[in-house]
Amino acid sequence: MSKPTVAIVGRPNVGKSQLFNRLAGKRLSIVEDTPGVTRDRLYAECEWRGRVFSIIDTGGIEPSNDNEILKFMRFQAETAIHHADVIIFITDLRTGVTASDMDVAAMLQRSGKPVVLAVNKCDKPGQPEPEFYEFYNLGLGEPFGISALHGYGTGDLLDEAFQYFPPEEEDDEDEGRIRVALIGKPNVGKSSLLNRVLGEERVIVSNVAGTTRDSVDAKLDNQYGKFTFIDTAGIRRKSKVEEKIEKFSVMRSLMAVERADVCVIMIDATEGVTEQDTKVAGEAHNAGKACIIVVNKWDLVEKDGGTMKEYTLRVREGLAYMPYAPVLFISAKTGQRVDKIYETICHVYEQNHKRVPTGQLNSILAEATARVQPPTDKGRRLKIYYMTQAGVCPPTFVCFCNDARLFHFSYQRYLENQIREVFDLTGTPVRMIVRQRG
Ligand code: GDP
Ligand code: GDP
Repeated sequence: MSKPTVAIVGRPNVGKSQLFNRLAGKRLSIVEDTPGVTRDRLYAECEWRGRVFSIIDTGGIEPSNDNEILKFMRFQAETAIHHADVIIFITDLRTGVTASDMDVAAMLQRSGKPVVLAVNKCDKPGQPEPEFYEFYNLGLGEPFGISALHGYGTGDLLDEAFQYFPPEEEDDEDEGRIRVALIGKPNVGKSSLLNRVLGEERVIVSNVAGTTRDSVDAKLDNQYGKFTFIDTAGIRRKSKVEEKIEKFSVMRSLMAVERADVCVIMIDATEGVTEQDTKVAGEAHNAGKACIIVVNKWDLVEKDGGTMKEYTLRVREGLAYMPYAPVLFISAKTGQRVDKIYETICHVYEQNHKRVPTGQLNSILAEATARVQPPTDKGRRLKIYYMTQAGVCPPTFVCFCNDARLFHFSYQRYLENQIREVFDLTGTPVRMIVRQRG
């Protein structure tokens, strides 16, 4: 089963980012940012009482314009209701309860989803201030006074949220199932592809068992394997407002990425790679997911002998940080090459889970460092003592060296490529963690 998901919902300026950073900070600091990918930190992995969960800051899509606030808040709440197991609704002691707080609280309450109410900016520990009691009026039960700034109360808040996490045991039926997210901007053809994929095969549509989430995922079993196509909400239930607003679809994709094993990044052949595509694909890359690039609407492109090759180059340029991702050209409309997708999904999934034996890894290291000498600075040379794989999804390698500052990105990239050459690793990002030792 996938990790529990906690969403933070609240008005602008109540302290959502502050809380998010506080909860996420520790985990995030060990994950390096990938150059070339700007990332709004909208979600992160956290751990509480030994349980790993995802936290989503729905505030990442905040309105710039005041009269849109309520609309956006409703959307945030809706997204959270749809995708999260638990919602943290955050309010602000200083402003008190506002009309939009009331509105959103009512929405959350109606949803029946577990909601934990936080009153932020309670900066003085101890007896709550008189204003605090007003928050009981939201009808969401006992408010938790916190100070995201100082960290007070956040532990109790998490304890409360923790109670609502779905049980941890695996669902047998879902074992070995590959969770696939079709992501891409509106109109790229996500629904068409999903319908094409599901239409021809045995489909079991069911609620995600054992979770309090109400997304509807589509299961598909065929000769290639067992798949769950994640309801990228917005595929099935499109609302007019969402379609128009780009940020919404980015948010949607993000949630799907988080739950997926494999991300199918869809590009519209008639438009090429757009900025939004770059962003969404960047999320999949940063989240360490297996990735496939699918250029859809290939039927609409006029072709001569070299078109596909040229097009591939352009896609590679646009998504330069994921040279490892296979590129497929399909038409969801005619069905052309759609069945290639299954094999590709299975292949990249395997690569994303691959374990490389330490012995072989260190032979590669020895050869690689003999062929291209590690960098030096002021007479001091980088020495890499040892390398080991610390994890999968994505394959993560730890390199022990004498001086981390000398271990430039370009040399890391070089080593990564050496490993890829030997072990394939198609379709998966790879992480390098550098540890300095004496
Ligand atoms: P968001 O718009 O909901 O993400 O809010 P931010 O996290 O950006 O916070 C808005 C403002 O409130 C910032 O100036 C923060 O420094 C401040 N803030 C956030 N949490 C606290 C808190 O616990 N106490 C105080 N005094 N200020 C806070
Ligand atoms: P979504 O918003 O990403 O779910 O996109 P849809 O599946 O709703 O597709 C948007 C539009 O593009 C619809 O009019 C589809 O018929 C059309 N479309 C989708 N895939 C293809 C394709 O491969 N070829 C052509 N010609 N049109 C397509």
